[in-house]
Amino acid sequence: MRITVVGAGYVGLTTAVCFAHLGHEVLLVEKIPLKVDMLRRGEVPIYEPGMEEMLRENLKAGRLGVTSSLEEGIQFSDVIFICVGTPQSEDGSADLSQVEEVARETAKLMTSYKLLVEKSTVPVNTHKLIKRTVERYLKKKDVPYDVASNPEFLREGSAIRDFLYPDRIVIGVESERARKIFEELYAGFNCPIIYTDPATAELIKHASNSFLAMKISYINMVADLCEKVGADIKLVADGMGFDKRIGREFLNAGLGWGGSCFPKDVRAFIKMAEDNGVDFGLLREVEKINRRRIERFMEKVRSSLWSLKGKKLAVWGLSFKPNTDDIREAVSTKLVPLLLKEGARLVLYDPKAMENFRRVFPEGDDLKYAPDPYTAVEGASALLILTEWEEFQHVDLLRVKELMELPIVVDGRNIYEPSVMKQLGFEYHCMGRGVKE
Ligand code: NAD
Repeated sequence: MRITVVGAGYVGLTTAVCFAHLGHEVLLVEKIPLKVDMLRRGEVPIYEPGMEEMLRENLKAGRLGVTSSLEEGIQFSDVIFICVGTPQSEDGSADLSQVEEVARETAKLMTSYKLLVEKSTVPVNTHKLIKRTVERYLKKKDVPYDVASNPEFLREGSAIRDFLYPDRIVIGVESERARKIFEELYAGFNCPIIYTDPATAELIKHASNSFLAMKISYINMVADLCEKVGADIKLVADGMGFDKRIGREFLNAGLGWGGSCFPKDVRAFIKMAEDNGVDFGLLREVEKINRRRIERFMEKVRSSLWSLKGKKLAVWGLSFKPNTDDIREAVSTKLVPLLLKEGARLVLYDPKAMENFRRVFPEGDDLKYAPDPYTAVEGASALLILTEWEEFQHVDLLRVKELMELPIVVDGRNIYEPSVMKQLGFEYHCMGRGVKE
């Protein structure tokens, strides 16, 4: 099939590259010229494992093209995947201006049948707004079209695998014609495919993300309780997680959720409910618990160091989660300014996200970047861990201890065993786990 994908971010790029990999002919439309140039050269503007190889393979095979022209994209195929950003607006709702622009421009340009697919995360009933926009800008041209919802559930860091082997595919369609297109498109996928109306599909995405955020906030509250009563949150989570009704995933206590999706999606879901007369107080509490994680962590840093003024602290992990260079709404973006404000001198290290972080937090007298985790800890009074990159599990901890001024570790992601850290001679503070005497 021929497919057009609009927006070359995490979702659009993955969608385009994976559909091409499956043998479809894909044209990827991106409005930032620099990204278009990079992609045409086979360079990936983001860090996503396996993406570069797959991009190059499909460019070479001629199955994937990249353009900055939406007009070219509209002419290229009948199926237009809208994968543009839906950031948060000031009032908490989703800013749908990028989606509106694609719908409007598509309507102006289209001269034959088009299926417009919402892959971006959008509030319930956005398909109706897209239809209204298309109607307006078609200006009575008699061109048939469908609008469908096919939300994306991929996770950054495992985007390709998540796209090719999803737990389920959700498709909200209103016509038999649109349904047939999806049946052909997803024919080779071996997972449940749920056909619904568009509103249900839109809601499934927001309800899923908010539920996952809720799970993390829930376990973080239990972690706070564990600290008070001397229980171990990791074992509590294991014990709960073996129950199939609960499941172990998203039960890792720590600094809480961040990233480009959960914060804005939870906010948008609350606002959407409110706009429809439903008070989703549960989710407001989920947000509140998450905001408090930062303060909980700062309390641990303060209580272990007494004063932060003039102290050199190493920070490992800046991305909002491992295996991505994405720092949007990462806890690091909130903690680094707080630590600096209290007078700490920071040396930061992240395997992939330093370039992005440096753009927002440039190097200065009190803020340095280290080329590796060991350089970061040289002479440090404490090491703070903000992201659970696998690399940190394999460092030589004795070498780390030798390099530090004081062997204090405040681990916001519980990546080490407290008993092992104690044996190695560290003063180890983590989230919801105590060392048994
Ligand atoms: P992103 O901001 O990384 O990428 C969006 C891209 O669209 C940008 O490159 C932008 O330049 C481009 N764009 C905007 N308007 C355009 C236009 N008119 N023509 C061509 N290109 C245009 O966003 P993302 O992280 O890929 O997310 C996209 C959507 O998918 C959002 O709604 C998000 O909530 C949702 N989503 C994201 C993830 C994730 O893990 N990042 C997962 C599932 C769903």
